[in-house]
Amino acid sequence: LYTAIQAALPATLDEPAILTEAGEAYTWRDLDRATAMIANLLDSLDLPPVGRGAQRRPPVVAAHIDKSVEGLMLYMATLRAGAVFLPLNPAYKAAELDYFVQDARPAVLVCRSDDLDWVAPLAAHRGVAHLFTLNTDRSGSLLVHAAQQPDVHAVKPRKASDLAAILYTSGTTGRSKGAMLSHGNLLSNARTLLRHWDWRSDDCLVHALPTFHIHGLFVACHCALLSATPMRWLSRFDPAQVLAHLTDLRAPRATVFMGVPTMYGRLLAHEGLTAHAVSGMRLFVSGSAPLLASAHEAFEHRTGHTILERYGMSETGMLCSNPCRPADGPRQPGSVGPALPGVGVRVIDDAGRPCGTDTPGHVQVQGPNVFSGYLGMPDKTAESFTADGWFITGDVGFIDAAGYLHLVGRAKDLIITGGFNVYPAEVEGHVDKLPGVIESAVVGVPHPDFGEGVVAVVVTTDGRPLDEARLIDALKGQIASFKVPKRIFFVDDLPRNAMGKVQKNLLRQHHQHAFS
Ligand code: ATP
Ligand code: MG
Repeated sequence: LYTAIQAALPATLDEPAILTEAGEAYTWRDLDRATAMIANLLDSLDLPPVGRGAQRRPPVVAAHIDKSVEGLMLYMATLRAGAVFLPLNPAYKAAELDYFVQDARPAVLVCRSDDLDWVAPLAAHRGVAHLFTLNTDRSGSLLVHAAQQPDVHAVKPRKASDLAAILYTSGTTGRSKGAMLSHGNLLSNARTLLRHWDWRSDDCLVHALPTFHIHGLFVACHCALLSATPMRWLSRFDPAQVLAHLTDLRAPRATVFMGVPTMYGRLLAHEGLTAHAVSGMRLFVSGSAPLLASAHEAFEHRTGHTILERYGMSETGMLCSNPCRPADGPRQPGSVGPALPGVGVRVIDDAGRPCGTDTPGHVQVQGPNVFSGYLGMPDKTAESFTADGWFITGDVGFIDAAGYLHLVGRAKDLIITGGFNVYPAEVEGHVDKLPGVIESAVVGVPHPDFGEGVVAVVVTTDGRPLDEARLIDALKGQIASFKVPKRIFFVDDLPRNAMGKVQKNLLRQHHQHAFS
């Protein structure tokens, strides 16, 4: 992967590669030199591989740090040195970090100086050989040590099948699993996205996503790095800051933005989002969680841009995407689009047979982007693949006549009430359209008669509860009664994790006694 990143470097390395909100500019030369120095530092540590025989894998470099350009350099340097990168959410506390460290056994751990007092004993206890610090102001021992290293470095060649990163899933449905991703997985997916999203040499990405997750680290950074196009870099998402970048006329002018649905919601709530403000933009991409059809439509109405929604996961990279070029078809609200070129997507029923058009079933996928397995979980890995080698995503969806995939929920969130299947996304779509409703989450909780009873948790426009009985009546006119929530609860906000995913397990837990 790094060989490809290096081959993509522009002829003149003095061009800007990254501009930060603090007004700092990093050129391609800066990136190249700094990653060489950090890679040399990693090489100098003489890290041993992990495991034996066929299980043997390169050493792991774990990063439990805030988002920064130097953090991105650490990722690139890890690839460059042929080691395996493990990004971790800096919000994790001791018990969480301890789980990932004992699971992935990193040889190097980089943390914030502020966390050193509790990370150091944890790392020592787990036998981490090297602990460094890195902070957002470029302080910390990592850069102090790297500064003593030469600024040229020969890339350690890696095969497509070699491990490049361990990426833990978001833990939305249970304990996070470490997806083992190879150089080939990451590179093939990045190349597909560059082609499919028509990446141009004058593109410039506004990067406001966290970098411990596939969306911000792989989808966003790989597109920029493998096309040598600059990024405008925000340490965190702030709608006013994003809009300031989108409207900034100075070169490199912003052309692409990638966000999770909650970011689009917050942009829409900002009066600065206008057609004029985004007139220089080429592409808005959304993913990681379902984008409300209403948000898609409101965004188009306000800006003239249709958001391109795509679907992917830690284990597989990107799988489906709405079209980029108008000639390839419309961007359909509520759908994640057709399978990306080179990616196989099929929908299978409980008995293992292909589902017909418009019939929901288990989404299964195949392709060079699909991971090789979960770290240390051979049983979980085995049960996640079919006998003919397709990965079972755990998502439920259907493919329409135009070949577009529509996700209707996760298999674990599917509700079975009185023997009937209820797909949460379908019900949510109807609830969201009721007057006074902003958004909703539909879950199943234990019910004495029906096994599970449908419950909706709703956020209203003015934050005040609506008339539950009237909402239920309104829904009865629209969908079969077994799908209609038997109870509706009102909340200020839905519980979401760092990527804006609704934590339905928390909602199920909270309302487990709704019918008992
Ligand atoms: P875990 O696997 O630990 O429960 P997770 O599945 O949320 O967590 P990720 O790999 O970060 O972890 O997320 C992938 C999931 O995100 C997909 O399986 C899908 O359910 C959801 N997702 C991603 N993009 C979209 C989208 N555009 N629309 C709806 N859901 C999406
Ligand atoms: Mg998952």
